[in-house]
Amino acid sequence: MIISANISKTLMEITGEPRADIAILEIIEDAVEHRIEKISAEIKGLEEKYSMTFGEFKKRFEAGEIPEAFSYEVETDYLEWEGLVSRLNKFRPDDLRGYASGLMLLASEQLAGRLDIHPTNIVSSAEPLDDKARRVIEEAFGVTPYNFYAASESIGIVQDCSEHQGLHVFNDQHVLELLNEKNEPVKPGYPGQVVLNNLYNRCQPLIRYRMNDVAIYSDEECDCGLPFPLLKGIIGRQEEVIWVENNSGGYETIHSMVFIEFFVPGLRRLQVLQEERNRIRLKLVTDGDKEAILTAVTRRMEEILSGKNLLGQVTFDLEPVNLIAPDRKTGKTKTVISAVGPPKES
Ligand SMILES: [Zn+2]
Repeated sequence: MIISANISKTLMEITGEPRADIAILEIIEDAVEHRIEKISAEIKGLEEKYSMTFGEFKKRFEAGEIPEAFSYEVETDYLEWEGLVSRLNKFRPDDLRGYASGLMLLASEQLAGRLDIHPTNIVSSAEPLDDKARRVIEEAFGVTPYNFYAASESIGIVQDCSEHQGLHVFNDQHVLELLNEKNEPVKPGYPGQVVLNNLYNRCQPLIRYRMNDVAIYSDEECDCGLPFPLLKGIIGRQEEVIWVENNSGGYETIHSMVFIEFFVPGLRRLQVLQEERNRIRLKLVTDGDKEAILTAVTRRMEEILSGKNLLGQVTFDLEPVNLIAPDRKTGKTKTVISAVGPPKES
């Protein structure tokens, strides 16, 4: 693709991305996402108006069961609705790539019956792809998404393979180190800060470049036979994660996203304090029927823990408070505060 210098400059300014080819992909992705959202919102409006999906509306229209079916309003809605559904389904990509949250959006549209696409390859990047997102995407499209980890500083650092047993590190292009707080490499199975060296920048090499992410090397080999070493996973930012011990002596992480998405009506604020490795205290600011909120929060916590096979293994207490104070240094309220931090090598 040839892009003029002026257009390149504009694209780079809009996206803040220094490489024009990546900037244009970002813009296209945004535009498609925006369009899908807009069309979906219009479809939802019609679904609410008639309290049914288009499929049902069409069936009932043909059976003569829609009141005033031949009025101007209903006929116009029919045509518009049909057009929207077909426009939405015109995006029929074989290859679907995006942020985990964008893919989740499409997956939920598909599951709700508003989107009908059948990609054969799905790649998630930029945000951690957790088990829940993976399951929802699989359920929606029948395809296991690939997880791809890259950065503006270096493209294509790790990706999983068809076996989905972990993430292969492309060590022909990179040296990916996982270091502890003394800047020493951690053993496989233990979390370390991602520090990147790349082997192809000739003008400005990246040497021990700290990525602000935490990952774990696997001590197992992948069944696919690829020669690239395997990461068990990339956990995301350290300050957003708590580590708990599972019942086989290993560790599991719970990401702060889980708590941010903790939707319970009447729950105004929530802060998670990890006091001991497997003991959590939840501070809650509530608004309304306190008992009902506490019951709902308990149920939601049990769901989260049982989803990770940690029910009974990790205990939690609820502490209703009037206020959760922001952090003095940053002025921001932290969702997660851990007194124990990530596990250390023994
Ligand atoms: Zn593999």
